[in-house]
Amino acid sequence: MEIINKAKIREYTTYKLDGEIKKIYIPEDVLELKKLILKLKKDNIKYKIIGNGSNMIISSKYDGVLIKLSKFDKLDIKDNIVKVGSGYSLSKLVLKCVKENLSGLEFAYGIPATIGGAIYQNVGAYGYSIDDFIKYVTLLDGNEIKTLSKDELNFGYRDSIFKHKNLICLEATFELKYSNDVSYKKYMEERRLKQPLEYPSAGSVFLNPIGYSAGKLIEEAGLKGFRVNDAMVSYKHANFIVNVGRARAEDVIKLIRIIQDKVQADTGIYLETEQEYLG
Ligand SMILES: Cc1cc2nc3c(=O)[nH]c(=O)nc-3n(C[C@H](O)[C@H](O)[C@H](O)COP(=O)(O)OP(=O)(O)OC[C@H]3O[C@@H](n4cnc5c(N)ncnc54)[C@H](O)[C@@H]3O)c2cc1C
Repeated sequence: MEIINKAKIREYTTYKLDGEIKKIYIPEDVLELKKLILKLKKDNIKYKIIGNGSNMIISSKYDGVLIKLSKFDKLDIKDNIVKVGSGYSLSKLVLKCVKENLSGLEFAYGIPATIGGAIYQNVGAYGYSIDDFIKYVTLLDGNEIKTLSKDELNFGYRDSIFKHKNLICLEATFELKYSNDVSYKKYMEERRLKQPLEYPSAGSVFLNPIGYSAGKLIEEAGLKGFRVNDAMVSYKHANFIVNVGRARAEDVIKLIRIIQDKVQADTGIYLETEQEYLG
């Protein structure tokens, strides 16, 4: 198993924040993963699974280790049924499906997630979410490998069973539709126009409160361009915090609190974070 000591956070996350993590383990297969978790539990060491780190704010203060499932990257397409490992890139999967004239996941092109992270979070955009196309997920529950159907995975708005139970996603099976018109480029164009892709970020910071747009509330609070050191509210899209230099997790967290306080004082609405803090 590959082990990376003193891993630079910026190399494993899309925010590219300053700082280091004690260790990142990269298991070869489920057997190694199971053994690793047993050992970490026995030694009382905290751990967290990481995908592409595109929804995480990680601080050097985090005293646990990370487990990256990048070796869980098998892809098997049989007719319109797609089985894929949890460490596989979501955007790469979209391209593979497009090549096979398989339609469904195009909306997700440009989301820099792994399959595991995307399912954990039930990623969505442009009116679709990943659960629209899921058939089954194979996961690790303690020491047991289980396959759950879509109905058992409790998907909701940016929500799934993985957020509430200590489960590890190993593999997902999607059911897609054949189509001669599988277009994905329009979604990337839309992202380029609306999102500050020129800076490191972790996508939307806050969930949209029911009936509101978090970005609009932040913009109306006059916070576009507001910064804490090198963490800044994007001018292009106010629900993005961008790293304009050498931001640390503490800067992002401080900025998040300022945004929450100002929006709550102005409107009475509390903005809940979509991004996850490890510290
Ligand atoms: C430019 C940009 C655009 C984005 N656009 C969107 C968008 O349109 N829609 C959207 O919903 N999100 C978007 N995001 C946010 C982000 O990509 C998603 O939240 C994504 O699901 C995170 O996937 P990841 O693999 O990077 O997971 P990570 O950020 O590494 O992890 C997120 C969570 O998933 C857990 N996790 C990861 N893998 C597994 C696994 N195998 N088993 C169990 N748990 C696991 C982690 O422990 C963690 O709790 C965007 C981000 C960026 C940077």
